[in-house]
Amino acid sequence: MDTKQRKKFTILFEQMIDVMTDPEHFDRKVFVGILTEISLLFRLSKGVTEFYTSMSNERKGVGEVLIDYDNGHGDVAVLRRRIIGKSGAVIIGTLYMARDTQPLDEEEREKLDLVQRALLSFISRNRMQDTIERLGFSDESGYPNFRAFRRFAERLNEAGRLGGYVGIYLNLRHFALINQAVGRLQGDEVMRSYVNLLEMAAGEDGIIARLGGDNFVMLVQGELLDQVTEILNSAIVYYGEKGDKKVRVSASAGIFIVPEGFVMNDPGELMERMISAVTVARRDEQGSIVYYNSEMQVLRDRMMWVQHLFPLAIENREFKVFYQPKVDVTSGCIVGAEALCRWFRDGKIVPPMEFIPVLEQSMDICTLDFYMLDQTCRDIVRWIAEGRQVVRISVNLSRKHLTDVDLLEHIMEIIERNHVPHQYIEIELTETTTDVEFKDLKRVVSGLQREGVYTSVDDFGMGYSSLNLIREVPWNVLKIDRCFLPTDEDAEDSVTNMMFKHVVAMARDMGLECITEGVETAGQVELLRRNQCHIAQGFFFDRPLPVAEFETRLDQHQYALEPKDA
Ligand code: C2E
Ligand code: MG
Ligand code: MG
Repeated sequence: MDTKQRKKFTILFEQMIDVMTDPEHFDRKVFVGILTEISLLFRLSKGVTEFYTSMSNERKGVGEVLIDYDNGHGDVAVLRRRIIGKSGAVIIGTLYMARDTQPLDEEEREKLDLVQRALLSFISRNRMQDTIERLGFSDESGYPNFRAFRRFAERLNEAGRLGGYVGIYLNLRHFALINQAVGRLQGDEVMRSYVNLLEMAAGEDGIIARLGGDNFVMLVQGELLDQVTEILNSAIVYYGEKGDKKVRVSASAGIFIVPEGFVMNDPGELMERMISAVTVARRDEQGSIVYYNSEMQVLRDRMMWVQHLFPLAIENREFKVFYQPKVDVTSGCIVGAEALCRWFRDGKIVPPMEFIPVLEQSMDICTLDFYMLDQTCRDIVRWIAEGRQVVRISVNLSRKHLTDVDLLEHIMEIIERNHVPHQYIEIELTETTTDVEFKDLKRVVSGLQREGVYTSVDDFGMGYSSLNLIREVPWNVLKIDRCFLPTDEDAEDSVTNMMFKHVVAMARDMGLECITEGVETAGQVELLRRNQCHIAQGFFFDRPLPVAEFETRLDQHQYALEPKDA
């Protein structure tokens, strides 16, 4: 080597070290340029680096081969170095020369050795980073995982840029069905293509990560939200070898719009909000997109609380039956009562609206309803034994029961086990919305009818009332919901008044017993009388009462009909 060459080497080597020790500004082109110049300086024809994650992979030849420089004339290996990293990874560097080139002298060998050692340790560091990245931040199918999502969120948070982003938790809809239709392997392909669409919509400054199964989370910039929701609502995905088959894919999603100035202490704070919203979205059978609001958090907390406490509460008999009398508006006599559930928890009463909807999310509601029916049966037989004037008691059954093919047997088993004469029991069911439910409903109601157990349509007017429901199912009783009952302020010719009048007349014409719920004033009692709706249930007579108080009413048997507080 002459002085000029030495000087040149020193400059190149320093440049190389500079590039390698400043990973933030690493520029591949510059780096390759330096390596090429070094190769030329030393008359090299080729430089190759092999990378194996372990020695056993090295033996098997499973690894990566990187060509650092190649002028196409390399055939003699002149220098070879193999290093083993801390993690057990093996990196091998080999330098080649053309056969007819002047061989390396001692000084040149030493200098090249230095270059190679520096290069290998740099590559080792970098490759490991890639491998760690691959193993740690993606799942077995290659999707970024939750760790990748968390890191992304944390970096945004640290940079104060999380505000204005949108967090999305999504669940592919009916993906089990799609899998069934297209086959497991192509199902993976469909999912991959759909996620690619979302990934593209999310752009460079967004992320989509898989949580497992068909659940994903995203963080995207606010202005891209419309593009993303369009895909969530529905997208056509192509698949198959030729990419000519297609299927429509959509997702239920919970969306949290991160407010400006939002500071995240823990990624869980994002997740909780998205999950609260997606829980609501998934409950809707149609599937949908739901935006987070703070009430959801309260709702979700309560849900967790109820689900958590229920099994022990039922075992500890914390649920009690309250009875609300049903009164004949002409005579003032008690003609029946409705059994309503109350939860005694830490000395307080939890009202049904706070736990029934939660229990209806799972089959827990069935446990509660059968428990209520059983308790009611026990009270009735006791009243009979005590010689009281017993009236028919209605018990609520959630629509959730309709999927139970043995529902009728279950109901009858409880009634029979308690030896309750069937005519003392009435089962209240609310209106149904779907055809499948409708069939089940008809079967159950007809079955009860044959057993001599009464049935009633609860909350008539509240839901999707269909006159078919009334005509085709052999009900005994129509319970008109409070929303149909005019208040004292409603004018005689108001729409509510007219509807009430007609609904009562219709029930009467169809031979149904008719009862109005939520009767609170003497004026309303009078209205019922005028329209010949004979039975009232409501605060005007009594609120739902604890069993002892209800027994007192049963014994008195009749209400005075003068207005209470007039
Ligand atoms: P529902 O079956 O329609 O019961 C009537 C509701 O109206 C009861 O509410 C009752 O307290 C209330 N109510 C009665 N009279 C009046 C009135 O004059 N004014 C007003 N504002 N309200 C009145 P509660 O006890 O809070 O129950 C609410 C709902 O929870 C029930 O509506 C029923 O759907 C459900 N529920 C209660 N117990 C059970 C149960 O054991 N099983 C099932 N599946 N659902 C139940
Ligand atoms: Mg009811
Ligand atoms: Mg009702």
